[in-house]
Amino acid sequence: MSKISIRDNLLRVEENIESALIASGRNKDDITLVGVTKTVDADSINEAISYGIENIGENKVQEIMDKYDKINKNVNWHMIGHLQTNKVKYIIDKVDLIHSLDRMSLAKEINKRAKSESIIKDVLIQVNIAEEVTKFGLKKEEVIPFIESILDFKNIRVKGLMTIAPFSENPEEVRFVFRDLRNLGYEIEKKNYENLEMKYFSMGMTNDYKVAIEEGANIVRIGTAIFGKRVY
Ligand SMILES: *Cc1c(COP(=O)(O)O)cnc(C)c1O
Repeated sequence: MSKISIRDNLLRVEENIESALIASGRNKDDITLVGVTKTVDADSINEAISYGIENIGENKVQEIMDKYDKINKNVNWHMIGHLQTNKVKYIIDKVDLIHSLDRMSLAKEINKRAKSESIIKDVLIQVNIAEEVTKFGLKKEEVIPFIESILDFKNIRVKGLMTIAPFSENPEEVRFVFRDLRNLGYEIEKKNYENLEMKYFSMGMTNDYKVAIEEGANIVRIGTAIFGKRVY
């Protein structure tokens, strides 16, 4: 991937995001672009940062550990992948937002590790709207009981919801996923839980971010459209 193409790709993605926001009557700054950097080397990530990327997302603890010291410090890290309980300790002081809280054992561990660092960790709850067996996340109807069971965890702050839509050639087919997640957010907001904000809706990837934005995404996680096809 040459310099020019990361820059051009990023510009194109930013233009698309802006037009989707404007088309849906939203403020053009009402979104956070997370550049998904899994498998991307540190030089390319730093290059993207030099073009204005302020948030990067990784899905593996090991990759965060390997890259952390090589990446420009002026960037926020997002843990977007499945998080093993025994690895929380390695990233608790490195990531700004964990998108993948999906079970009690993980909530307990994040709370415990955050407490020992004297910090409050911002998290999103991952919801498996389409109930795909291959994906992690709580089922829709499990989310409110789960939230209520962690309300007194002092070192975790729930900031919103995250979902991954099933892959589809036609993103219109997964519009309901984004709409359902946003509606679940409204339902949770109405409960007026203390110290809990439905501020972020992390939804939309390369294939479907325009539809996700139209349905209220304010964090999009985009890898391929910026860095090119991943080579594993
Ligand atoms: C890989 C990944 C993305 C980005 O996917 P692209 O299709 O490359 O944009 C977004 N979210 C999660 C959770 C991912 O694992």
